Amino acid sequence: MSQANFYPGPSRVYSNVTEYIYEAYMEGYMSVNHRSEQFMELYRNVKEELRKKLLVPEDYEILFTSSATESWEIIAQSLTTAASHHFFNGSFGEKWSSYAEQITKVTKTQFGINEKLPTSDVASGTDILCITQNETSNASMVSMEVLRTLRRENDGKLIAVDVTSSLGGVQLDFGSADVWYGSVQKCLGLPAGLGVMIVSPNAVARAVRIGENKRYNSLVRLLDNAAKNQTSYTPNVLGIYLLYRTQQVSKSIDQVETKLKNRMDAYYELFQQTEGISFLVEQEALRSATVLALTTSSPEEVKTLALDRGIVLGNGYGPWKKSTFRIANFPAIKTKEVEKMRDFFRRYSP
Ligand SMILES: *Cc1c(COP(=O)(O)O)cnc(C)c1O
Repeated sequence: MSQANFYPGPSRVYSNVTEYIYEAYMEGYMSVNHRSEQFMELYRNVKEELRKKLLVPEDYEILFTSSATESWEIIAQSLTTAASHHFFNGSFGEKWSSYAEQITKVTKTQFGINEKLPTSDVASGTDILCITQNETSNASMVSMEVLRTLRRENDGKLIAVDVTSSLGGVQLDFGSADVWYGSVQKCLGLPAGLGVMIVSPNAVARAVRIGENKRYNSLVRLLDNAAKNQTSYTPNVLGIYLLYRTQQVSKSIDQVETKLKNRMDAYYELFQQTEGISFLVEQEALRSATVLALTTSSPEEVKTLALDRGIVLGNGYGPWKKSTFRIANFPAIKTKEVEKMRDFFRRYSP
């Protein structure tokens, strides 16, 4: 790939995917039956690999969907009876609440990008709390500490967490929530078209108790099949294979997280010294570890100049579309690409 791609999704894919696609073809994965032993073995292997590399607990089930958006609907239709409570400070969290609203009753807490999530602000009559851990639109994040506080203060409620742009880059404390989901085209460095959902024993029990089974992607249906290492419909087997192979050669998540943190520290230093560019989120503790949103007077100009040098920066998103540009800090990005981008900003002046 000649361009250095820093778009925060769809984003740069791991460079060994071409090799794995060839391998998948040669080994018959592209036309494998999803009830066959070959597929079931792949499903077993990918679960084992995700438990090993991302530290997913043994008793959490791992499911495949088509996207993170699909998880918004699954949670609303299959895990919510009375209402879901949504905390958000950006576009993805807000969209999640509006999708849920079409299906169930919703209550909301909107908070500022420079504020800590207000954990005590939970409406009564809520079954499930919904948190966007890494808000890709403004590059803010909710810490594991905040999730643990929510967990402590909300006994009996489920907690669902959108980790679409942090899964695979940040060490997640899976025990502090019940449903974790994302899709592979961000931090997992793969082509789009596959979603992952990680579900606690409590969430499984809740899904079974509710027993919602009217839809093709009803959670009980997905869980029944996953228990047999199968899926309810013909899945994106190639995507699952690529996830398996890329995770197999990945370092464990603590090492990946350290690599990204070191890069982020270097970005902090760089952008402190870059005239006319500053972080949208002011407090360092509230900033995402995997996406940067940077404010500047003319994001268009920065992006155009960068593109001339073969560097693709991400557009701003939602309310921040015109005032920011974004940079992915995802593991598939190569050190030499990071160097090239840093070098561009070292020379940049408005
Ligand atoms: C990209 C993104 C989504 C949507 O992902 P899809 O795979 O397109 O459904 C949802 N939430 C967050 C935080 C995202 O970054």
